[in-house]
Amino acid sequence: MASIPIIDTHTHLADPVFDQDRQEVLDRARQAGVSHVFLVSETLEEAMQNLELSRANAMLKSLAGLYPTYLDMDEADRMIQFIRSHRDELIGIGEVGLDFWKVKEEQDRIVQRKIFEQFISLSLELDLPLNIHSRSAGRHVIQLLVDKGAKRVHLHAFDGKASTAKVAIEAGYYFSIPPSIVRSNQKKKLVKQMPLSCLMLETDSPVLSPEPDERNEPANILLALEAMADLKGVDFNIVGRAAYENTVKLYGPLA
Ligand SMILES: [Zn+2]
Repeated sequence: MASIPIIDTHTHLADPVFDQDRQEVLDRARQAGVSHVFLVSETLEEAMQNLELSRANAMLKSLAGLYPTYLDMDEADRMIQFIRSHRDELIGIGEVGLDFWKVKEEQDRIVQRKIFEQFISLSLELDLPLNIHSRSAGRHVIQLLVDKGAKRVHLHAFDGKASTAKVAIEAGYYFSIPPSIVRSNQKKKLVKQMPLSCLMLETDSPVLSPEPDERNEPANILLALEAMADLKGVDFNIVGRAAYENTVKLYGPLA
């Protein structure tokens, strides 16, 4: 076990695949040294479930956001209203962002970009960090964030190159690394080239597990931590401490 607490900065624990054993999953996370688990949402329904879960368990922290493939301005408005009215119970906005892998039509990408811009503005207005999904859109996401003056930024499971990420690192943005790093050369390269000062940990449970097609869970975060320590050639606890401190710097102290 690591000597300092571990924070899983991006999960979907409200997902029905955890309905049978959510408490056991959290018990295993705790045993692995995980102190807090962040719950992101893809929909309004999931955002409400996250709030219920986090009200019942101090280990869980809620975020709310609309997944970037939902190209619905009205739903985005409702999500923005939800975030405003629950500002004090949320630790961030997410997941939001751009997905050019699934959204290929130019007119759809224009809507996607507009919705993302609204969430960036909301992040600045409410002073809440953004927990961002970016797929095949790394340059566009980072450019938009920099142009809009985004300040508190977390890019989760970033699928781009380290050279693309450079601008984001210079802007003071953070990147979280999932357990799928054990089977991803892209993520290994990214970690090798990034300073510890911008790295955090996540699992993206139930996806991005160390084994493809297996359900992922927060206890697996240790595999991401070990892989990062190996790549950096430093002790496990050095990476753990950096990831913890970076998370608290971005999200604030966690009760
Ligand atoms: Zn996710």
